[in-house]
Amino acid sequence: MSISKETVLEKLRTIKGPDFEGDIVSLGLVSEIFIADSKVFFSITVPAARAQELEPLRAAAERAVKSLPGVAGAVVALTAEKKGGGMEAAPPRPAPPRPAPARPAPPAAPASTQSGKRGVPGIEAIIAVASGKGGVGKSTTAVNLALGLAALGLKVGILDADIYGPSMPKLLGIKGKPTTVDGKILRPMEKYGLKVMSMGFLVEEETPMIWRGPMVMSALTQMLREVEWGALDVLVVDMPPGTGDAQLTMAQQVPLAGAVIVSTPQDLALIDARKGLNMFRKVDVPLLGIVENMSYFIAPDTGKRYDIFGHGGARNEAQRLGVTFLGEVPIEMAIRENSDAGTPIVVAEPNGPIAEVYRGVAARVLERMRAESASSSAAGPAIVFE
Ligand code: ADP
Repeated sequence: MSISKETVLEKLRTIKGPDFEGDIVSLGLVSEIFIADSKVFFSITVPAARAQELEPLRAAAERAVKSLPGVAGAVVALTAEKKGGGMEAAPPRPAPPRPAPARPAPPAAPASTQSGKRGVPGIEAIIAVASGKGGVGKSTTAVNLALGLAALGLKVGILDADIYGPSMPKLLGIKGKPTTVDGKILRPMEKYGLKVMSMGFLVEEETPMIWRGPMVMSALTQMLREVEWGALDVLVVDMPPGTGDAQLTMAQQVPLAGAVIVSTPQDLALIDARKGLNMFRKVDVPLLGIVENMSYFIAPDTGKRYDIFGHGGARNEAQRLGVTFLGEVPIEMAIRENSDAGTPIVVAEPNGPIAEVYRGVAARVLERMRAESASSSAAGPAIVFE
């Protein structure tokens, strides 16, 4: 049985508006509904300041639609766009050029950035992937960026620093535990050509992760320094979401060559993304740029592009803040399904358009790393006037 937009709207009329007045459909908060392969996509417009408070409303709408017979899945996003996320098809864009297959030279470790922090022998550069809040696709981006860098010919590792909610074992479909070299140093796990370390390999999934600050730091330090990473061009660190003290300490403790911020297009997430940018600025870590995730939607039947989630916010914001815009990743059911199956899209569909998007992001990240390391070594000692 195929589901119709009318049936979805009918169901959404049972969801009350933000102040329990009216319903979200009558209040005009629901964007156009898009249905493809029995999966339903739409967004709900809310005031930016109330985004967090209204998360239950988003979840209720998603649940309601998923409960309808004939619905295989639902993706609902909150958006702060005043225009209400219309379904205008955006003009087609040329595909980004595919990066040259030749093995690029690895980025040189930055000379003066974050000087004083001990590097990790054998690792040329460590970069962080961070987000201002959870659920924006940070881990998905981190793993596909790492695979994109590997596809460019680099030797790449990934360190899952999300100690409270490690996701790399699942995203990469890795089971088992790392072995030790001499009872102390751990051998990283390996998958799809990446070296991988995660707290998820070391503790059972059910173990409650009640860590105090210093324990979190020592776990991270161990995963960084007491692992036989071997020679790596880049180690990608999947940071825990948010910009609290724990994240700040990590950003301070790890000798980072740069940081990539992941954001969704809505203003809501961008407010958090700005906090992420500021956090790295505070600890003197160069910003490599912003990736906009769940940016637009491509209809599987027509290939037409739809900007239902208020796309473009991150690009404008990056420009305003003078930060590089690294690329935009569409919202795509295959990304979620492949993540759940432990085969990230860059390895599951290496010739598909999404893998190409991630390789483009990886190429720009690499370019920015080179530029940063060149400028930091050219800068020489800073002269400070007191
Ligand atoms: P975070 O690390 O920011 O908490 P995740 O990477 O775990 O976010 O992603 C959250 C959820 O969104 C996951 O179910 C993931 O599969 C899904 N997801 C991430 N990016 C996309 C995308 N571009 N299209 C569709 N689903 C996505």
